[in-house]
Amino acid sequence: MSVSQLAKSIAESPTLKLNEEARVLREKGEAVIHLGAGEPKNKAPINAILSAAAKLNTADIKYTPTDGIPSLKKAVIKYTEENYDRVVAPENVIVSAGAKQSVFNVLYSIVNPQDEVIILAPYWVSYPEMVKMVYGVPVIVTPEDGGFYPRMEDVVKAVSSYTKAIIVNSPNNPSGVVYPEEFIAKIVEFCEQKGIYLIMDDIYHKLVFDGQTVPVCFKYTKKDIESTHIIVVNGVSKLYGMTGFRIGWAIASRSLVEIMGNVQGQITSCTSVVLQAAAEGAMTGLQSVTESLRLMLENNRNVMMQELSSFTGVKVTKPNGTYYCLPDFRAYSNKSVELSRLLLKKALVVTVPGKEFGMEGHLRLSYAGSIKDITEGVARIKWALDPHSPNEIYIGDRKLVRDWL
Ligand code: PMP
Repeated sequence: MSVSQLAKSIAESPTLKLNEEARVLREKGEAVIHLGAGEPKNKAPINAILSAAAKLNTADIKYTPTDGIPSLKKAVIKYTEENYDRVVAPENVIVSAGAKQSVFNVLYSIVNPQDEVIILAPYWVSYPEMVKMVYGVPVIVTPEDGGFYPRMEDVVKAVSSYTKAIIVNSPNNPSGVVYPEEFIAKIVEFCEQKGIYLIMDDIYHKLVFDGQTVPVCFKYTKKDIESTHIIVVNGVSKLYGMTGFRIGWAIASRSLVEIMGNVQGQITSCTSVVLQAAAEGAMTGLQSVTESLRLMLENNRNVMMQELSSFTGVKVTKPNGTYYCLPDFRAYSNKSVELSRLLLKKALVVTVPGKEFGMEGHLRLSYAGSIKDITEGVARIKWALDPHSPNEIYIGDRKLVRDWL
């Protein structure tokens, strides 16, 4: 089969692949525990459902403007004003099929072949592949101390005359850490001064714990929305647990939004009007949905930390937000892909290898599921790896005996 060199070079999304593997195993009746999930188990917000149902009931389901229906854009503008203290115009907003498409649209619209895009490790799996898809070059900046907080001096060192953009994702997938205000202030100032785009992937920005708040990028620039190099990406997937609705958005200057609109118009025309109605419903409806989700995640995070604290040799940085933590399993293996495979095969637990996020020797564990998933999932991992743990375990009503340590 003849396929393009570029397409061939793009890796399959490891997280989506794992979801599929878990689904197939579950279908076979296996008691799989999914600690790989990037979504909570909540029901969609009632206001989202009512709004989508009302739209469906009109039977008037047509194309929408490429950049989104005006009423959803209005909700996004209100959201931006409330959460970013910025008043933006409808021409500064473009709605897309998930934040994923928003990030891609941004990259497609700003990157020339061979331009470099700086990505801070650990990073979301899709960034490097997306940069490659627009013929750009991903430049990975890894903290020297093996921690999860980027240092400004390392970012500055990685910048060259080809640097077009820096992607910042805080609260961070996969580590769950929130970058300090000082770092955000410095990177905003640096990008504005150098004319480098700063793509803020803020998809988890309300899901933070321990009374923390996330620094708001616009606070550190004096430039207005038309001249700033900051581009904000956000969406309803994580905020309301509405991953299947596929609605995200980008906020940027009018000129950039126009270009992104041209790009999107040639690819998807627009996102579905029904799903836009759902997103609008969620954003204008009861906001306690997000707070309930946040509280559930904080509680689950605490349980996950408790369970991991008694795991010999495993080190973990306590996450301050998101759905994830990224414990260090190097005491057991340096090869996270093999380790993750072993855990799926022997213990029926889905984890995501740290290698995929630029952090070899770690595993990303999600606490977005149930408390039972967390306690049982970690118990199974302990059983599979830790020789000090009992060598028998029950998975469902099957007794498994560990014979490989
Ligand atoms: N950015 C990050 C950091 C994410 O973790 C995800 C989802 N896993 C996305 C973007 C994409 O979100 P969406 O569902 O809105 O496409």
